[in-house]
Amino acid sequence: MTAVRAARVVVVGAGVVGLLTALECALAGHRVTVLDRGTIPDPGSSSYDQHRAIRTLVPGDPEGTRRMVAAHRRWRELETVLGTAFYRRVGVVTAWPPDRVAAVVASAAEAGVEVTRLDPAGLPHLGFPAGATGVRETRAGVLLARRVLRAAARWLAAHPAVVLRPHCAVTAVDPRSGRVELAGGEVLSADLVLVAAGPWGRELVGRPVVLHRQTMLYLRPPDRLARWWRTAPAAGGLGADGRAWAVPPGGGTLLKISSDAVCREVAAADCADEDQAPWAERLALAGVLPDVGRYTVVAARACHYTTDAETGGAQLARLGPAVWARAACGGTGFASAPLVAGRIVDAVTEVAA
Ligand SMILES: Cc1cc2nc3c(=O)[nH]c(=O)nc-3n(C[C@H](O)[C@H](O)[C@H](O)COP(=O)(O)OP(=O)(O)OC[C@H]3O[C@@H](n4cnc5c(N)ncnc54)[C@H](O)[C@@H]3O)c2cc1C
Repeated sequence: MTAVRAARVVVVGAGVVGLLTALECALAGHRVTVLDRGTIPDPGSSSYDQHRAIRTLVPGDPEGTRRMVAAHRRWRELETVLGTAFYRRVGVVTAWPPDRVAAVVASAAEAGVEVTRLDPAGLPHLGFPAGATGVRETRAGVLLARRVLRAAARWLAAHPAVVLRPHCAVTAVDPRSGRVELAGGEVLSADLVLVAAGPWGRELVGRPVVLHRQTMLYLRPPDRLARWWRTAPAAGGLGADGRAWAVPPGGGTLLKISSDAVCREVAAADCADEDQAPWAERLALAGVLPDVGRYTVVAARACHYTTDAETGGAQLARLGPAVWARAACGGTGFASAPLVAGRIVDAVTEVAA
């Protein structure tokens, strides 16, 4: 058996991908430096939200489903590693047109993912498209995202092989040499570099991506519905056009709704000057919550993600012998973070062998 030495790893970006990768590398015996231009965690990162949904079924994609089952398993274990409860396994319901349901259920059965059909009348406070059928995935639910980030940052700060460097903006990463340049002129080198700078990564990684901005609305349910929402699942395929989703409140969070209909392509991941009110209004009228007028609107916020310009997906790419990047961060970018972390640990282990 080949002995593995402790390698030096530099992670650029302390969102969920950077933090989990640092954690897994430290657990594997490597030395890790995490750089972020903001605090760690950074409230401006795209991971820093109340919650993110996790599900395992990728209809029609058994390999993708197998990977998400592995990610789900790792999230459960991470609750123990980090000593923090952050997963609300409330299930995820997706609304499907009747002619698609049989294929989705068959796809789940083939992949060994447990689902049940559901009459939308059983979830009267969620707005389903006319005629839709619900499919409920039980091995799914809500990750309390901020809680994950804070727990991971605490764990890393206490680990002797990890150095956290907040307020360190990276200005360039050379894919061939692996040199990492910081604002101020400092240069770092490592056996492996991961660029996990979220929507801002495109400034460091020269790969074509499409930048998207999406507005989310945070609401407090009326008192009389608080009990109902306590056990409600996350849900997708909602609203009159079937493009909206809802993440239920719980664990100290608010109800959140959004829709692909308010997702737009933008040129820059900075929306400080953009008025969110018109987008919030569209969301409120999307039919996600049948009695939306009874809910208290607490906030509207925009968040960014990127998709690969060719495939439309998120992507982990090897840019050079020792440089990797989460080149695009869209879709299931939070839930799938353990998969990126696992792949990087494998790559570091190869380098260190
Ligand atoms: C509206 C919306 C809803 C979503 N819902 C879900 C969901 O339900 N489930 C799911 O799985 N995913 C979801 N996602 C996707 C998910 O949130 C992201 O894919 C994921 O959080 C990205 O994490 P990250 O670590 O790659 O990037 P980020 O969390 O954005 O972290 C990047 C970090 O890099 C730092 N940084 C940037 N540039 C530099 C630099 N030059 N130098 C140093 N540091 C730098 C930033 O400060 C930041 O802290 C959603 C995304 C959006 C926008």
